[in-house]
Amino acid sequence: MQFKNTREFAQQLDQQDKLREYRDQFHFPNVNKKQVIYFTGNSLGLQPKNTQKYVDDIMKDWADLAVEGHFYAEKPWWDYHERLAKPLSKIVGANEAEVTVMNTLTVNLHLLMVSFYQPKGKRYKIICEEKAFPSDQYMLNSQVRFHGYDPDDAIVEIKKREGEHNFRTEDILQTIEEVGEECALILIGGVNYYTGQVFDIKTITKAGHDIGAFVGWDLAHAAGNIKLELHDWDVDFAAWCSYKYMNSGPGNASGCFVHERFHNKKDIPRFEGWWGTSKESRFLMKPEFEPMPNADAWQLSNAPVLALAPYLASLELFDEVGMDMLIEKRNLIVSYLEFILKEIDKEVDSTFEIITPSTQEERATQLSVFLHGEGRALFEYLMKNGVITDWREPNVIRLTPAPFYCSYEDMFVFGQILKQGILDKKNS
Ligand SMILES: *Cc1c(COP(=O)(O)O)cnc(C)c1O
Repeated sequence: MQFKNTREFAQQLDQQDKLREYRDQFHFPNVNKKQVIYFTGNSLGLQPKNTQKYVDDIMKDWADLAVEGHFYAEKPWWDYHERLAKPLSKIVGANEAEVTVMNTLTVNLHLLMVSFYQPKGKRYKIICEEKAFPSDQYMLNSQVRFHGYDPDDAIVEIKKREGEHNFRTEDILQTIEEVGEECALILIGGVNYYTGQVFDIKTITKAGHDIGAFVGWDLAHAAGNIKLELHDWDVDFAAWCSYKYMNSGPGNASGCFVHERFHNKKDIPRFEGWWGTSKESRFLMKPEFEPMPNADAWQLSNAPVLALAPYLASLELFDEVGMDMLIEKRNLIVSYLEFILKEIDKEVDSTFEIITPSTQEERATQLSVFLHGEGRALFEYLMKNGVITDWREPNVIRLTPAPFYCSYEDMFVFGQILKQGILDKKNS
């Protein structure tokens, strides 16, 4: 498609947008009494307008029914989490039984590592990506130390090549081959939080299995953003948070995937709790642990229903629309944003560079832009003028036009504000 950097052209794209009515189903913040251009759906998604009702329903059931709400609420609390598994399984490409919702992301990765990081003999190393999200680094380091190893020795980071912004799949595969039978686990972020690079989950998972390692994925930036086929790709386990692309609210509950070949395995190491036991025996308070025959076996506590309610509200929107439609819009709006950025860059004489991969296979909704010169001042100018982006040291802003609620006209208006900001700085 031949793009144009005009308001009319952007409005035309909006008119053809099959998702355009969804924009109205989200709450936007205002700056200077105007609705913002929101580019941080990769960090905290906007609140769907139907969320309030889902939370209010729980509050009302609690007020009216108190403890009886566990069984007699319209959506009973004791198995409330099960309502999320079906819509979620479609988003991540899994069987319903392979998905559960519990705790928060870092907690879940720790719990899953109890099952999938079992260092023994010379097989004790973990392969991850260089400069992984800090929480993942702390998690991996502390797990390795917990098992009595030295992180400097036991953690092998995949490196980027000198002067390059992104990882090459061939380099990842080479590292996997080199570590070989010393590798116990490969754990990588499915979409890199900094650059937005999408990893080849299928190929990397297979390479990991070929050397006899478990392969897990942190899908914080992938769930609700990219097409996932976790079951068919034979991924061992994965976890993601729900507050980024999945719009479930700050710090909210995490989803987990455990491949069905690990269900019903009595000998799998696992930290256990009463919500992981079979429903038939859960209230018999028996001493033996009879695991649920699905990913729920990893559950510990009774479900945090007030946290699950917004997640369920959001999943119903995903279920209505489906990932394919979101991805179709994502590809077009991101290409349009890229076009606008390049146009502005020409007009203001090259002050920034897009560090996200340029191919549709290797990128999703996020474009990371490296700003030369006065990056921080420009970021602040954007914020003051109603463009919410986020800042990452040393000089990067991340722009995420979430397909649910961002418009093409937003991209055009953003371009105009960006250009004005750069020109103001140049002239001051
Ligand atoms: C956002 C994010 C997290 C956050 O973890 P929480 O436990 O939800 O605070 C972890 N890892 C990655 C890769 C992330 O992008």
